[in-house]
Amino acid sequence: MQKYIMALDQGTTSSRCIIFDQAGNICSKAQKEFKQIYPKPGWVEHNPVEIWSSQLSVAIEAMAGIGATYQDISGIGITNQRETTILWDKETGEPIYHAIVWQCRRTAKMIDELKKDGFDRTIREKTGLIPDAYFSASKIAWILEHVEGAREKAEAGKLAFGTVDTWLIWNLTKGGVHVTDYTNASRTMLFDIHKLCWDDEICERFRIPKCILPEVMPSSHLYGYTHESVFGGKIAIAGAAGDQQAALFGQCCFEKGQVKNTYGTGCFLLMNTGTEAIKSQNGLLTTIAASSGGSVEYALEGSVFVAGAAIQWLRDGMRIIKSAEVSDEYAKRVEDTKGVYIVPAFAGMGAPYWDPYARGTIVGITRGFEKEHFIRATLESIAYQTRDVIASMQEDAKVGLQDLKVDGGASANDFLMQFQADIIGQSVRRPTCIETTALGAAYLAGLATGFFESKEAIKENWQLSKQFCPQMDETQRVALLKGWRRAVRAALAWAEDDED
Ligand code: ADP
Repeated sequence: MQKYIMALDQGTTSSRCIIFDQAGNICSKAQKEFKQIYPKPGWVEHNPVEIWSSQLSVAIEAMAGIGATYQDISGIGITNQRETTILWDKETGEPIYHAIVWQCRRTAKMIDELKKDGFDRTIREKTGLIPDAYFSASKIAWILEHVEGAREKAEAGKLAFGTVDTWLIWNLTKGGVHVTDYTNASRTMLFDIHKLCWDDEICERFRIPKCILPEVMPSSHLYGYTHESVFGGKIAIAGAAGDQQAALFGQCCFEKGQVKNTYGTGCFLLMNTGTEAIKSQNGLLTTIAASSGGSVEYALEGSVFVAGAAIQWLRDGMRIIKSAEVSDEYAKRVEDTKGVYIVPAFAGMGAPYWDPYARGTIVGITRGFEKEHFIRATLESIAYQTRDVIASMQEDAKVGLQDLKVDGGASANDFLMQFQADIIGQSVRRPTCIETTALGAAYLAGLATGFFESKEAIKENWQLSKQFCPQMDETQRVALLKGWRRAVRAALAWAEDDED
C-alpha cells in the first residue's frame, strides 16, 4: 500500500504541490509563483508552458522533500484556477496562444452582444451561469478569431482546447489523454449541466468546433497514468476539480445544504444542493459540485467581491493598520461600531443586489467614531456581505443552514469569525487544515484509487480547530441587519442619483 496521495494545486498566481498521508496530514509542500502577463488594460494572460513547468517542478520538489518516488504515490488529484483557457496543437503539444486568464475582460463586448437577441437566457438555462467574459466560451472564440490559421486547424481536428486541469493531464500523459471533469466543464459556458454534454447550440453560436473539446468525466475517476518520463514511472491521475468545488469537497460538505466560505481577497461561497440543480432567483450561479460515486451533484455559488481586500485597503490605502492580523485586536477593543456601517462596494455590489455602479459608502458617523470603530466596521462588512449571500442561497435552495465551514486567509481572524456566527445565528467551524482546496483534490483522487476507503472515512479527517457559536441575541441581530440594509440602500442610491 502506498503511503501518499498528491495534490497539484494550480492557482492564478502560483503552482503548488501538497503531498498528504491517509489521515489528511500535510507531509510535503512546494510552491512556485509564475509570471502574470498584462498585454493591455483589462487583459490577463499566463504562459501555458510556464504553468506546466512550474507545476512539474513543484511536484518533483515536494516528492524530493520526503524522498518519495512514484511508487510511494497512490494517485494525483488536480485542482486549478477555473475558466482559464488554453488551445494547443494536438500533434506538437505547442500552445497556439497564451492562456487567457479568467480575470481577462477582452471579450466583454462579445457577451453584451448575446443579450441583444436574448441568447443570454438560453445560456443561463443550459449552463447555470450568468453569461460573462470570465467563462471560457468567449475566450476560445477570441483565440479562434485572432490567431492566424487557428480556425482552419480547429475545424480540421488538429487543435485541442482545455482548461488548466486538461492542459496538465495532457502534459502528464504526454498527449495521451484529453479529458476534463464535470466541475471544470461546467465553467466553460459550453456545457449543459442538466444533460451533462457539450451543447451544440452554444458551440455553434460561438463558432467553436466540438472536435476541439475534451471528453468529460467525473471528478473522482481514473483518467490515465503519468507518462514514465515524467516521474520515472506511472502514477494514476485520478481526481480533478475546479478550485472552489475542490474546497467544498475538502471541507467535507457532502450533504445537501452544507456551505463553505473561503475568505480571501474576495469570498467564495458554495452550497451543496445534492442531485438537484437549483435555478437561483437571486443571481447566484448554478454549477456542478465535485462528487465521488455514481451521481452528479450540484452547488449554488455566490461571491463577495471585496472581503480581505477591504482589510488590505485599511493597511495599504488608509494606512491605519500595519498588518491584516492586527485588525482582530483593534476590533475587539471596542464594543460596537458606534452605529456606523461601511459598505465596501468599491467595484459595485454583487448578490443579491447586483448593481455595478454602487460605490463604497460610510454612514452614521458621529464625533465619537474612532479608528477602532473604523476597523471593526470594515471587518463586520465582510460578515454582512457573506450573510446576504447565505440568505440568498437558503431562499433559493429552501434549506436551513446547519453550520458554516470556513477557510482562506481572513478566516484566521477570530473577531470576524465570531461576528459571522452572531450575524448568521449559526456556528462557524474552522478546521485545522485550511488547505482545503488541495485536500479536496487529494480526496477525489484517493477515493478513485482506493487510498481512501469512503467519504465516511474522510470525514474522520476533518478536525475542528475552533468553533464560533452565536452569542448575540435575536433583537440585536435584527437591529444590526436592519442598519446594514439601510447602509446598502445608501450605497445603491449614490449610484442611482448619478442620472440627475
Ligand atoms: P487570496 O487567495 O485571495 O490571495 P488568501 O486566502 O491568501 O487570499 O487571504 C488573503 C486575504 O486575507 C488578504 O486580502 C488579507 O487582507 C486578508 N487577511 C489575511 N489575514 C487576515 C486577518 N488575520 N484578518 C483579516 N484579514 C486577513
